[in-house]
Parts: sequence; C-alpha cells; structure tokens
Amino acid sequence: MKQCRQTELERDLTALLGRDNCLFSLEDLWTYSFDASKQRALPDAVVFPLCTDQVCAVMAYAHEHGIPVVPRGAGSGLTGGAVPAHGGIVMVLERMNKIIELDTDNLCAVVETGVVTALLQAAAAKAGLFYPPDPASQAFSTIGGNIAENAGGMRAAKYGVTKQYVLGLEVVLPNGDLIKLGSKCIKDVAGYSMTELFVGSEGTFGIITQAIVKLVTLPETVKTLAVCFGSIQDAGRVVPQVLKSGVVPCTLEFIDAACLKAVLDVDPLHGCEHQIHGSTKAMLLIEVDGSAQVVEKDAQTILDICRESNMLSFRLAQTAKERESLWQVRRSIHGAIMGLCPKWLEEDISVPPASIPLMLEKLQDLAQKENLRILCFGHYADGNIHLSASEQEAPLTAERARTVKGLIFSETVKLGGRIAAEHGIGTAKKEYLGLNLDDATLNFAMKLKQMVDPKGLLNPGKVFPEKVWNSAYGLD
Ligand SMILES: Cc1cc2nc3c(=O)[nH]c(=O)nc-3n(C[C@H](O)[C@H](O)[C@H](O)COP(=O)(O)OP(=O)(O)OC[C@H]3O[C@@H](n4cnc5c(N)ncnc54)[C@H](O)[C@@H]3O)c2cc1C
Repeated sequence: MKQCRQTELERDLTALLGRDNCLFSLEDLWTYSFDASKQRALPDAVVFPLCTDQVCAVMAYAHEHGIPVVPRGAGSGLTGGAVPAHGGIVMVLERMNKIIELDTDNLCAVVETGVVTALLQAAAAKAGLFYPPDPASQAFSTIGGNIAENAGGMRAAKYGVTKQYVLGLEVVLPNGDLIKLGSKCIKDVAGYSMTELFVGSEGTFGIITQAIVKLVTLPETVKTLAVCFGSIQDAGRVVPQVLKSGVVPCTLEFIDAACLKAVLDVDPLHGCEHQIHGSTKAMLLIEVDGSAQVVEKDAQTILDICRESNMLSFRLAQTAKERESLWQVRRSIHGAIMGLCPKWLEEDISVPPASIPLMLEKLQDLAQKENLRILCFGHYADGNIHLSASEQEAPLTAERARTVKGLIFSETVKLGGRIAAEHGIGTAKKEYLGLNLDDATLNFAMKLKQMVDPKGLLNPGKVFPEKVWNSAYGLD
C-alpha cells in the first residue's frame, strides 16, 4: 500500500477502534500474516473489534475505500483461510468472546463468535449441557472459525458437525450492513433458510459476529475401546457392520500402523504399549456414550462384531486415566509424525464410509508406485481420512507435492469422495475445487459471492480457482 494511503488507513482505523485495538508495526503484521497452514502474506493493518458496531464501521470503511478484509479467529485453519492473500485488513474476532446467554430451558447458547470452543463446552458442561462439535483444535479455535469452516471432529459420527448446531447467526456483510438469520426456534421457515449459507463460507460472505448454537444434554457415561487388527481390511469390515447393527458410536477413529509406531517411538512409555498387539496394522478407537445400560450393551455389540472381523486384541478402558492414555495416542499423532519429517503434504479427504478400506488400499498402492511414505488416521465412521505424505527420507518438493495431491484427489473423486472433509478449501485446495464441483455449480457459487460481495473485498483469493475469480471480478 502506498505510504500516504497507509498513513490514512492507520489514522482512520485508529479513529474507528481506538489505538489499543489496532496494530500497524511490521513485526505485528508478520504475526498475523499466517495461519496453521503456514502460508504467508502480509496485511496492511490488524484490527480487534470489541463489538458488532465496530465491525460494521470497519466493513463500511473498507468497502468505501476498496480495501480487502480478512476475518480471523485463532488462526488455526489448515488451508490458509485467514491468510491475507491480497493484503488489506486482518480483522481478529478474539476480543468479541462473550457467552451472552446459556439458555438451559431452550437448550441453546447465544455467543459472540470470538469465544474459544472449549470454553463454550466447559460453560455448557457446568450447566449439565453439552456442545458436541469437537475439532482437535477446540482448546484454541473459535466458534466463528468453526462455523466459517463447518468444523468437524471425532464425535461427528454420532453428533454431526458444526452446521448441525447453528440455529442462528448475526452477520456483518461486506458493505457494513448487519443481518440476523435464524432464531432459537427449532422450526423456523420464516423466509429462506439463509443461516446455512454462511456455515462453511470460509469468511468470504460476511463477518459472523454472533451465533445461536444448539446444546444437548450431557451423556450419562462413556466407554472407550481400543481394538487392534492385523489388516486394514479387517478393521474396515467392522465399520459398516457396527453402523448396520443400530449402534451409533460417539467416535470411531482409526490409526494405521505407521502412525501408531510414530507415537509409541516418541513415547514408548505412553502407558498403552502393552495394550497394543505387536502385529497391529490398524487400530480402532471406539467410544460409546449414553445411559450406563445402553453403553454396556453397545460396547458388547461392537466387541462381538470386532471378534467376527478377526480382531487381534482389545482393551476396554477401566479408568478415566486409562481412557485418557488411549486418547493420548490419538492426539499425539500430529506431533509424533512431525519428528519423522519436518514438512508433510497433509490432506483431509472424505469418501463414503464403506469405501474407506478401498481408499486406504489405493493410498498404499500410490505410496508403493511413487515410492512415498503415506501415513493415515482419521474418523472412520464418517469417511474422513487425514493423511500425511512425503518422500521416503525427505519432504516433497513443491512440484512433486502438487502431483501427489492431484493423484490423491483423483482417487478420492473416483470413489465418490470429496477433496475437503472438514478443513475447508482456502487457498490450499482452490485450484482443485473443480474436481468436486462442475462448472455450473462453481459458477452458481461465484454468482452468490458476487451478489454478497460485488467488489470482491471480503477474504479475496480464497475458495475459487484463480481463473474463475479473475474472470468474475474482471481481473483477466
Ligand atoms: C492441531 C490442529 C487440529 C485441528 N483439528 C481439527 C479437527 O479435528 N476438525 C476440524 O474441522 N478442524 C481442525 N483443525 C482446523 C481448524 O482448527 C479449524 O478449521 C477451526 O475451525 C478454525 O478456527 P479458528 O478460530 O482458528 O479460525 P481461523 O483459522 O482464524 O479462520 C478460519 C476461517 O474462518 C474465517 N473466519 C474466522 N472467524 C470468522 C468469523 N467470525 N466470521 C467469518 N469468518 C471467520 C477465516 O477468514 C478463515 O477463512 C485443526 C487445526 C489444528 C492446528
């Protein structure tokens, strides 16, 4: 940005929000130039609005002066959604973090969207209620970021993803107008159902300032099982059988042998190694919750199915500590595999759940053919695979990563899968979106974006392939 425009920007934003709620120094701007995807681009200013009126004021100002705005929660996104790809203002919502109301009679909460997910969960639990969406980043990610990404988590098999919990939203549009969508009512067809349009919109339709989210009652009890199998196929057969049995597990995670080894190599005294069979090629971590009676019966049904599918061994956590140590294995995967390679190609794909074993086989074939390391874990019951790929001894070069990504996505799509399950498209996958959306669908999405944001100033450079974006906004 030219020096005189930068000076004006600093003066005007300071007048709108106060000195304490703006950052302009280079070192501060660097701090907000990246998210967990590790992509980078420098903003011209960072602002921390304290209320919806301030959000409206900044948006109206940016609209008038043609300045891009990028909403940001905790910056834990994995696809570059909060990176200011075209510069401009990064708007951090973290100071709008009030839980405005916990409505224990109507089982819902009204929150500002900067509230950290785990803090909402803790507040709900104190009132005997439960906010189920549980991205592994829940300790730091925000409700706004979760809604904008339609975040999932380990409990999605039973409880669904974020969109199932959004009853209503307050949104500031790119021109600064404020709109209110949805309500506390379970049944609400007063006008178009527009709330969903903003769920998963990756910060490209509006700044979500408040949300009404649904809560449920806390389950009475929970049982956790770790079941080891000698092959991916044996583990894979369990999933459709469990789902057909009428049991809905709260979580059904799988971990492949390489991830398991990485975790136990980092910490052989994890407390679980004696619970994991030496010939394990795939482990399922299964949790059932509900009333004590139902949970007992469900766990037994699952074990019977696992036995029929040649399980090698199982461990039913007997204490909270044992349960925690089993979950620790799952939670440690990301950190543990980082010790094997400084930079993985990390992907988040989904396939119809029954196709998981086939997809895992395809990934094994790909690893062999291309001489790659591919490690997999994920949410089996909802078909979501997280995978990390590298050369045998080194990270992939950028060009090779593009090729491998293309090969992985092409196998995914052949099985009726999606290139993004829960981490969004952002900048990381935008050039591949056409693999899932045909031209007519992509153009419809672009028309919606242009209608809401005719100047293309809200989170530009995200979601849409560059060519589609440039042609829509006349940048060819
Ligand atoms: C260790 C780790 C584990 C993770 N595990 C999971 C997981 O299990 N499941 C999962 O789904 N994701 C997971 N993620 C990804 C990430 O945490 C989620 O996408 C999360 O929802 C992002 O929230 P955030 O507050 O950090 O948002 P940010 O990263 O700041 O922003 C994400 C997107 O939302 C937009 N945005 C943020 N706030 C608003 C708002 N108020 N209004 C409009 N747009 C907004 C941004 O512009 C951006 O496009 C993980 C990430 C990490 C680092």
